[in-house]
Amino acid sequence: MQRNGNCSRSVGFVSSPFGLAGLGSRQGVSQRRGRFRTARRALWVQAKLRVAVVGGGPAGACAAEALAKCPEIETYLIERKMDNCKPCGGAIPLCMVDEFNLPPEIIDRKVRRMLMVSPSGREIPVGRTLKPHEYIGMTRREILDGYLRERAISLGAVRVHGLVQDVELPNPRDPQGVYRIKYADYDRIDGGRATTSTLEVDMVIGADGANSRVAKAIDAGDYKYAIAFQERIKIPDQKMAFYEDLAEMYVGDDVSPDFYAWVFPKYDHVGVGTGTVIDKPNIKRYQEGIRQRAAEKIAGGSVIKVEAHPIPEHPRPRRVVGRVALVGDAAGYVTKCSGEGIYFAAKSGRMCGEAIVQASLNGGRLPSERDLMERYLKPYDRQYGPTYTVLDILQKVFYTNNAAREAFCELCGDDYVQKVTFDSYLYKKVTSTNPLEDVKLLFRTIGSLMRGHALAP
Ligand SMILES: Cc1cc2nc3c(=O)[nH]c(=O)nc-3n(C[C@H](O)[C@H](O)[C@H](O)COP(=O)(O)OP(=O)(O)OC[C@H]3O[C@@H](n4cnc5c(N)ncnc54)[C@H](O)[C@@H]3O)c2cc1C
Repeated sequence: MQRNGNCSRSVGFVSSPFGLAGLGSRQGVSQRRGRFRTARRALWVQAKLRVAVVGGGPAGACAAEALAKCPEIETYLIERKMDNCKPCGGAIPLCMVDEFNLPPEIIDRKVRRMLMVSPSGREIPVGRTLKPHEYIGMTRREILDGYLRERAISLGAVRVHGLVQDVELPNPRDPQGVYRIKYADYDRIDGGRATTSTLEVDMVIGADGANSRVAKAIDAGDYKYAIAFQERIKIPDQKMAFYEDLAEMYVGDDVSPDFYAWVFPKYDHVGVGTGTVIDKPNIKRYQEGIRQRAAEKIAGGSVIKVEAHPIPEHPRPRRVVGRVALVGDAAGYVTKCSGEGIYFAAKSGRMCGEAIVQASLNGGRLPSERDLMERYLKPYDRQYGPTYTVLDILQKVFYTNNAAREAFCELCGDDYVQKVTFDSYLYKKVTSTNPLEDVKLLFRTIGSLMRGHALAP
């Protein structure tokens, strides 16, 4: 099968080439059907496993890259907006730079210092335990996503510029049938409008973010979500110098009832934003809160962009259905407490892509739902489940009222807490290096919580 040959209005195979394997074992088929089968098996020999990746953010690009490395898999990467600038803080952990082989120019700034600002306005410096080479990378999403996407395409993924509108599932009586993806094809404009194209594939990876169409198509179930709001503000140069290698996190009832607000340095401006799950209608009031708290530091700035987007709060009830798997935000892989999702998107995309390559024996066999569960879902949950759990608990304990937030900020001043937190964030491991320190930390936590009650405004 030719690359691109099956990605147009006129489609190639009507049935999956992999459907033939199952036919061979049936009893009592007629001679005619036998001859038909033989002819189709000849096609199967030439055919490649076809996988569509819907969405070209970090999750989709990394899934497509893993798949495209296998020459016997036909990989389609479908993205509606090739220069998409996802509303995002753009902070990535150090381990992502090495693990995903990111070139230095992807990192706009290296943040080595943070300020935690408590409800009463105490500023707790964080970062003194970092080693000289350690930093949080600040990226622009249009640059990061574009780079990852182009890398997948250069390895052989077929670029499809289109908006996926529907994913038709195979007939349940044909367990090896094809998925039909209908999309507005931005490369085929007729009378000023995108025509509808159909792509037939054997497997689908849904990497299309929080409002995933693929998730809807497979009835993956809903998740709770936060709404995050961010203003990109261009501030005077001398104010920008303050944020050269510094990011700020603000906590308090005035900036969010259940999350944190931030001022993150971007390429030539700052991102100022906040989020909430429990009080979405008042998000603009909380945004006003963070603007007021950071007023002096961002004074004289002008807003260059306003953006808002949902952030999933937990994984969807079903992340694998049939031969469809969800990754990244479509699956719900953002951590509580920190709201981090870029690394988990890239990682889940890569793990899912690699799982398909392995389960298909490099494209020679059609993987099943069970294969996706065993080789993608379970390893992902094993590796990152503890991280989600710990951050979920931290959010519940420390983000619920101002007293707890004061305690949280006080604890952030502790060297051991900083070390464990940064090690967990930068290297994506839930670490506990010193049991004695852990016990001491427990007592310090209780003490901080009690002092927090006294300090809270
Ligand atoms: C305001 C804000 C700040 C954040 N800050 C940070 C941060 O600093 N660090 C961090 O790690 N995480 C942060 N996050 C979370 C992070 O942005 C996401 O977790 C991450 O983008 C998930 O990547 P993804 O590839 O799964 O999805 P997305 O980045 O959402 O990518 C989905 C892609 O699919 C495309 N698409 C969607 N629907 C279709 C369709 N129907 N057809 C074709 N293409 C489609 C979109 O155009 C997009 O390119 C933040 C989120 C928000 C909202």
